[in-house]
Amino acid sequence: MSIKENYSNIKKHLPENVQLVAVSKTHPVSVIQEVYDLGQKVFGENKVQELMEKYPLLPKDIQWHLIGHLQTNKVKYITEFIDTIQSVDSEKLLLEVNKEAGKHQRKIKVLLQVKIAAEESKFGLEISEAKDLYQKYVNGSFPHIDITGLMGMATFTDNRDQIKKEFLNLKKVFDELNQLKEINTLSMGMSDDFPIAIECGANSVRVGSAIFGRRDYSN
Ligand SMILES: *Cc1c(COP(=O)(O)O)cnc(C)c1O
Repeated sequence: MSIKENYSNIKKHLPENVQLVAVSKTHPVSVIQEVYDLGQKVFGENKVQELMEKYPLLPKDIQWHLIGHLQTNKVKYITEFIDTIQSVDSEKLLLEVNKEAGKHQRKIKVLLQVKIAAEESKFGLEISEAKDLYQKYVNGSFPHIDITGLMGMATFTDNRDQIKKEFLNLKKVFDELNQLKEINTLSMGMSDDFPIAIECGANSVRVGSAIFGRRDYSN
């Protein structure tokens, strides 16, 4: 299937309230431009270097989301233009983003990345850490940041029940935080599991290969 067919198929199956983040990592700007021309404005990249190379070559009204692990010393390269950092996984990083956003007199949207998968994953906050950070945010600790939501990845498995359990677990945390102060975005689901994620309450999905085709190398 062509990229255009892939894209229309996915758009057709997404409920209206669900945001699509088109994950364009490893794909060239020409292909991103093609999807942009179909009407897509929100794109996700997982590496700062790659994002910095692509950003100047593409339309300025693209909302760029960083979805991969971010090192604190690289925050400064993206603060001017990043729309949302979905992969905030430590207080140290949150403080750095807050500091850089302050320097640029802007607010940066962030999602707290929470570990929900059973498998050993390197990145992501424990649920208790995410709750603590959100409480600090509500108390005013990070004035240049908007914590707009949570991001999570399920275990890489064919077991739908397990995936569902993990997504529902994050939905529960989301609902709890929402009691404290309204929070909007629940980012769960990728090409293989986004329908399950939506069933479990996701209102933002990160879809790469189902739009762009398989990546040449895994990353
Ligand atoms: C690559 C990536 C995706 C998209 O994966 P696909 O399976 O290609 O849809 C989503 N989220 C994160 C964090 C990623 O790194």
